[in-house]
Amino acid sequence: MLKKRFLFIFDFDHTIVEDNTDTYIWKLLPNGRKSLPPYFEKEKNWNKFMRKVLQFYYHNDISVQQVQHCLQEIQLTQGFGELFDFIRTNKDQIECIIASDSNTFFIDSILEKRNLKDVFDKIYTNPVQIIDDFEISIFPYHKNECKSTCPRNMCKRTIISDNYQLNNYEKVCYFGDGKNDYCPGTILRKEDIIFVRKGYALEKLIRKNDLECEKFYFESGIYCINRLKNLFF
Ligand SMILES: [Mg+2]
Ligand SMILES: [Zn+2]
Repeated sequence: MLKKRFLFIFDFDHTIVEDNTDTYIWKLLPNGRKSLPPYFEKEKNWNKFMRKVLQFYYHNDISVQQVQHCLQEIQLTQGFGELFDFIRTNKDQIECIIASDSNTFFIDSILEKRNLKDVFDKIYTNPVQIIDDFEISIFPYHKNECKSTCPRNMCKRTIISDNYQLNNYEKVCYFGDGKNDYCPGTILRKEDIIFVRKGYALEKLIRKNDLECEKFYFESGIYCINRLKNLFF
């Protein structure tokens, strides 16, 4: 690939899309999350928990197609359609990736529905296997020993540093909202920007522990475009 000036990294749930993909599909259960048997409560590892949830769907005859259609209702975060159009216009200068603790099936289903597949060069997320029309099996992306606020199955800082040399880029822009977006923020340089969704966990974490890079707080993708506009010519 030709060398690009910018690396854009996106979280998925509550950043690109308005909702959390993992919890949105509880809608398919007759009583939402309450339909899950009590032994689900004990599972602290979210990735394992989701594997069990999808097994439960299988045993309750909720099909893969139903899950997919449900996910495809989720709207993009306000202004993100416009933000992705802006990225498309400048795609010759931007390498664009997703790092998400959702999974390949959920993300692909939504990107396909929203015609966004062309925007992203690579997606780092938990792998999924579709066994048959009713069974989805989800696996951890990797195992990490990160001491920060990352789950065992995914440290986004490790994903980035294993695959990218930040010094190859003029500027790195990271878009996120959650607890697991803090750790990758710690490797951003002072010339980089972290775009933080207002009103979510990442905003609170950053206020407690400062990061070296520029912080830009947003409510809508339109604010992000306004910050980015003058970087392109
Ligand atoms: Mg998120
Ligand atoms: Zn980490």
